[in-house]
Amino acid sequence: MPAPGEGKGHAAPAHDSTAYEGILRRQSARESAARTYARALPIVPVRARGLTIEGADGRRYLDCLSGAGTLALGHNHPVVLEAIRKVLDSGAPLHVLDLATPVKDAFTTELFRTLPPALADRARIQFCGPAGTDAVEAALKLVRTATGRPGVLAFTGAYHGMTAGALEASGGAQDVRVARLPYPQDYRCPFGIGGPRGAELGARWTETLLDDTKSGVPSPAGMILEPVQGEGGVHPAPDGWLRRMRAITAARSIPLIADEVQTGVGRTGAFWAVDHSGVVPDVMVLSKAIGGSLPLAVIVYRDDLDVWGPGAHAGTFRGNQLAMAAGTATLAYVRENGLAQRAADLGARMIGQLQSLAKEFPCIGDVRGRGLIIGVELVDPEGAHGTNGLGVHHEVSGGGAGRVDAAGSMHTDHSRSAAHTADGAGGTAVPDFSSDPLLGEPLSTPLPAAPDLAVAVRDACLDRGLIVELGGRHSSVVRLLPPLTITDEQAAAIVDRLADAIAAVARSRP
Ligand code: PMP
Repeated sequence: MPAPGEGKGHAAPAHDSTAYEGILRRQSARESAARTYARALPIVPVRARGLTIEGADGRRYLDCLSGAGTLALGHNHPVVLEAIRKVLDSGAPLHVLDLATPVKDAFTTELFRTLPPALADRARIQFCGPAGTDAVEAALKLVRTATGRPGVLAFTGAYHGMTAGALEASGGAQDVRVARLPYPQDYRCPFGIGGPRGAELGARWTETLLDDTKSGVPSPAGMILEPVQGEGGVHPAPDGWLRRMRAITAARSIPLIADEVQTGVGRTGAFWAVDHSGVVPDVMVLSKAIGGSLPLAVIVYRDDLDVWGPGAHAGTFRGNQLAMAAGTATLAYVRENGLAQRAADLGARMIGQLQSLAKEFPCIGDVRGRGLIIGVELVDPEGAHGTNGLGVHHEVSGGGAGRVDAAGSMHTDHSRSAAHTADGAGGTAVPDFSSDPLLGEPLSTPLPAAPDLAVAVRDACLDRGLIVELGGRHSSVVRLLPPLTITDEQAAAIVDRLADAIAAVARSRP
């Protein structure tokens, strides 16, 4: 474990700067224009342990990206390294397609041990090609085969991966086979209400679409959802809403697919994020942390859905023995050491501290999260208010308030109530009824998202030796996904550096 205060990001003079600069230069010359994280993080990692990454330039960073939420135990945890070495030393074959091995047998046993018991009792597992997106494809194929129906229900803001079917189900897509439903979100609630009432309105909309014979939504093969939307900007679904989705789908024999690729293995403060609500999905999509930092993806599902034929979802690389061993060690370590509870406690503390910060800095629109998946949404304090992140022309009144919703998910926000229809900067009045007394409470109209501020904060974090990434509809949400193993001191260092970065950015933009 690194000592607190490590990762200051200072260059050590002993390192040869031309070597790593050459590596970065060759990367940008030779790699695809589609590369992602590498653009924002000009780092050449050469060593890593726990929360800390050391670059080829000798600088150290606190890594709150954690392989996009993969590293439940941080980098190179001793139990993971030991598990990998054991397989290597045993002489076991590294490539076995989908044949049975003792390593795979142990992984399946440990994984089933962690599942909601009502699913584990009747579970089947399909090992997929080693990426979350392939497991999403498998889940969609499974329910389409089992129901004989092509359509899928998916949510606004969803992210399920980059292959064709997963992309269709994601929020940016426009596909005729996917009916898009409102995902509950408090800060930019599409109904301007947020909280349990906003979520309930979304649930009613869902029910209406399914039961209205003229809704244009055919009976679907399944509903796919993330219990906390990660890439979509860290939106924890209220537990009550998740139970409503379970009830709505169960009543209509629609399989419910929980995509726990990012939320699994303790991240949200429960072993699986669905555990908070007690919901038992029909299918769970699992990847990232289950491979203990190596590539692994599976679906687990109720046995009566297992009606697809041999080879229905094949793939050469479904037998990664090292990943299974690393995954078994990770799952067991999280379970035995109560790391889900640790994530809940630490996450609540960090979110609380960031919410206090939000009171100081009007450019922090909202702080939200569950366990150690945390989002800080940057907004333009001078901007005009709107619901969708882009802003519309309103005058402003009222103040922000922090709150913890009934589900235990935490939020604080600087959304305000719009006072009146007003003449905007362009001089054109936009009719707006959000404060019409007939509505009762004025509707919430948050400040516009500030992607440029978010980029500035991310860069300022990097200068301070803190790695964070951005997410959300407008890439304006700073996302924190630290390992579940971090110490209290490390958690404090993360919050300090982020606070310092936000203060510096706020100072530089009066
Ligand atoms: N589902 C969710 C919820 C995810 O967060 C991701 C990746 N961020 C995926 C699916 C896709 O996983 P992969 O990148 O391994 O294909």
